[in-house]
Amino acid sequence: MKRSPYFQDAPVNYLFQEMIEKRKAFQKNNKTASLISLGIGDTTQPLPPFVSQTMKDYATKLSTKEGYSGYGDEEGCKPLREKIASAVYKDLVFSDEIFISDGAKCDIGRLQVLFSKDAKIGIENPSYPPYKESTLLYRGKEHLIELNLHEDTDFAFDFKQAEYADIIFICSPHNPTGHVRHKKELEEIVSFAQKQNKIIIFDSAYSFFIQDDLPRSIYEIPHAKEVAIELGSFSKIAGFSGLRLGWTVVPKELSQIHKDWKRITSTFFNGASSIVQQAGLAALQPEGLKEVDRSIQYYLKNTRILKEACTNQGWKVRGGKNSPYLWVHIPGKDSSWELFNHFLEKMHLIITPGVGFGSNGEGYIRISGFGQREDVLEAAQRIQSQ
Ligand code: PLP
Repeated sequence: MKRSPYFQDAPVNYLFQEMIEKRKAFQKNNKTASLISLGIGDTTQPLPPFVSQTMKDYATKLSTKEGYSGYGDEEGCKPLREKIASAVYKDLVFSDEIFISDGAKCDIGRLQVLFSKDAKIGIENPSYPPYKESTLLYRGKEHLIELNLHEDTDFAFDFKQAEYADIIFICSPHNPTGHVRHKKELEEIVSFAQKQNKIIIFDSAYSFFIQDDLPRSIYEIPHAKEVAIELGSFSKIAGFSGLRLGWTVVPKELSQIHKDWKRITSTFFNGASSIVQQAGLAALQPEGLKEVDRSIQYYLKNTRILKEACTNQGWKVRGGKNSPYLWVHIPGKDSSWELFNHFLEKMHLIITPGVGFGSNGEGYIRISGFGQREDVLEAAQRIQSQ
């Protein structure tokens, strides 16, 4: 078997495995300790009953002769595309520019096929790992351009490094730092991309967490449709991480790329589950949106509780206001794993070491607000009693 040489460039990310092993070892020696995880980036609130009832009804219909349907359109069912265009994008994009997927992560992988094999891919450091990992697996490390993000420069976009990239991944609200890019910053990035002929891939998976007057989509920026693709997901905004539903917007202004993306989705993908697409449609109805907002407010409150506890300790805390993540540094502790051990041993809390998201995450931890309220309150108490 001739193995792809790129597997050598993309060693398995051991971050979560190492966290699990450390947790197990700790539990073995501390059998009575009650551990609370603030490390998860997964949702915990149940699905709105309205959404699950829609799935039940649709599934029942599928078992009737009249209600049965097989394959749907590869790009997703029209009513859902229309609903995303109106409810999420306020008609800034057209429904036929939206391609429904089985999740943003899957599309991050498929997007690699869209561009020439020798394209250079700009990835923020730190960032959500699949951007980097898919680049390494598909084209190798010499095609990776790291765009540095630093807390002390307010996570300013790295225009200098971006000069070397053809394709640029940007995430806002950002995983893991919780930073949200302002309109002016995005205007500068779009103008840079126009002048320098770059393509932006804007990941908006956490857009519904934005409560302030900040851009939820790159398409709020003039001319963005000429340079940007946008990824969206129902996972974090509506609790669909297990159901699997997302989308990618490829504007018609990107004419050849639009056609090529259509080709890729019809070749690599046969459409998202029809039942789950009905659930997505339900989540975007006024009744569904009310429930979606209730969950978002719940997670944001969790994040505020944790932020206050960390701030009261004199720790440096970023994010958390329009995002479910806190990016925390404790003065005097410069290693992410040292911080992980400190939280585990002294507070019996599990957090995510920032270095797992890239070398610039060293010295930081990511704390997630996606937990249950009672756990969050207990965790805040443990932090404050330090
Ligand atoms: N994009 C970002 C920034 C994420 O943090 C995540 C999940 O953690 C995803 C995408 C994955 O989305 P999905 O569940 O739709 O694949």
